[in-house]
Amino acid sequence: MPIATVNPATGETLETFDPLGPEETERRLAAAHAAFRRYRATDFAERALLLDRAADLLDEDRDAVARTMTTEMGKPLAAARAEAAKCAKAMRWYAAHAEALLADERPPQADVKDSGAEHARVHYRPLGVVLAVMPWNFPLWQVIRFAAPALMAGNTGLLKHASNVPQTALYLEDLFRRAGYPEGCFQTLLIGSGAVEAVLRDRRVAAATLTGSEPAGRSVAAVAGDEIKKTVLELGGSDPYVVMPSADLERAARTAVTARVQNNGQSCIAAKRFIVHTDVYDAFTARFTELMAALTVGDPMAESTDVGPLATEQGRADLEALVDDALRHGAVALCGAKRPEALPRGWYYEPTVLAGVTPQMRIHHEEAFGPVASLYRVQDVDEALDVANDSPFGLSSNVWTRDEEEQRRFVQDMEAGGVFFNGMTASHPAFPFGGVKRSGYGRELSGHGIREFCNVTTVWHG
Ligand code: NDP
Repeated sequence: MPIATVNPATGETLETFDPLGPEETERRLAAAHAAFRRYRATDFAERALLLDRAADLLDEDRDAVARTMTTEMGKPLAAARAEAAKCAKAMRWYAAHAEALLADERPPQADVKDSGAEHARVHYRPLGVVLAVMPWNFPLWQVIRFAAPALMAGNTGLLKHASNVPQTALYLEDLFRRAGYPEGCFQTLLIGSGAVEAVLRDRRVAAATLTGSEPAGRSVAAVAGDEIKKTVLELGGSDPYVVMPSADLERAARTAVTARVQNNGQSCIAAKRFIVHTDVYDAFTARFTELMAALTVGDPMAESTDVGPLATEQGRADLEALVDDALRHGAVALCGAKRPEALPRGWYYEPTVLAGVTPQMRIHHEEAFGPVASLYRVQDVDEALDVANDSPFGLSSNVWTRDEEEQRRFVQDMEAGGVFFNGMTASHPAFPFGGVKRSGYGRELSGHGIREFCNVTTVWHG
């Protein structure tokens, strides 16, 4: 895949970039390592000052960087602005909370004595240079939710961003430089995915985090495993959205639309499988389909657009193949399932609702990365859980019920890293984010996220 900005709304290649050669990559690795040796000695106040300054700059740049994101990957401009604002908020959150999240832990005095110590503590130290392999779908947020905690913990970062968002990748490096971070603390490596292995194997790289597809995660985790290096993986998702009879159906249907088509349907935590109790199935389906069909698909730069193009031509082809397979195996399209005729240029796809989805269809097991919803009719809580858990993924989940006993069951039995009741899954800096099964391992955000790339050190005094 060439490193290039290709506008998904038109298919036009706007700018291409030469990948870094081995010498420049080496120079940057050396800089990251040298920076770590100095930066790790800074205190939380110094780090917070830098991160707050970067957040202020990002706020100032919001409109410009939003346009860059929309140009490179096609999300509606308002969503791009909101993403930039969310990043600044997360940066300030970590600037304010990192010291408390990484405060020394004191084991109970009885245990300290039992170990033969006068006193002992658990102390969090940074790991070193962390390689971040990131995707294009939230080109700022995916990076910031790694970088903010990693930098506050005292690590330095190397970013290998997706090849279709090079300008956003370069913007991020420039942002941290302008904020005053010492040289080498945060650098972008414009390299293709084939060059990742050599960087990851380099002895100066301590760990890696990857957000993206299962094959990419498997490949990076295999190399990291071979090198015995820590990884965090945030991979795909096919989150269930369960609607039970006690749900507020109008809110459930409206939220379902947002949960499915946010970011043009290309979000790991988008709701993808809609599992509806038979008592409310017809009413929910009618309203949901009506709202999906009424969405405005068009130029992502236009303020009136709800759904822009898919980010890549391949992404649309993959989605079309999933829908075609489902239709061939008996699914029924209640709306969409085609390209919009009025938009012949660009990689647009109409919001689609598929009924009658069964385990024989690929879409039952695979991630639909675009505005395509699968519907299932179920008889009770047990069947809802069976369908929800019949997926290789386990990122997050959404359940609409006001029944406390049903809520208890879903918390107990849902195979996912999150259970969101009467609302939709969204990330927040204070809550851990990540999944189980093939959605990956480890957690981002919150105290759990910042500790992933720490050397958890026992300090013992005899
Ligand atoms: P990829 O997983 O291929 O890309 C994500 C990142 O990983 C990019 O930086 C990519 O670099 C890099 N990468 C890819 N393969 C390797 C490898 N073997 N070794 C090291 N790095 C690698 O995602 P795609 O854009 O191809 O999307 C494909 C599917 O992945 C989507 O349809 C969706 O199902 C899923 N996906 C999920 C995301 C999520 O948020 N969970 C985000 C993006 C995709 P490069 O761009 O240079 O190839």
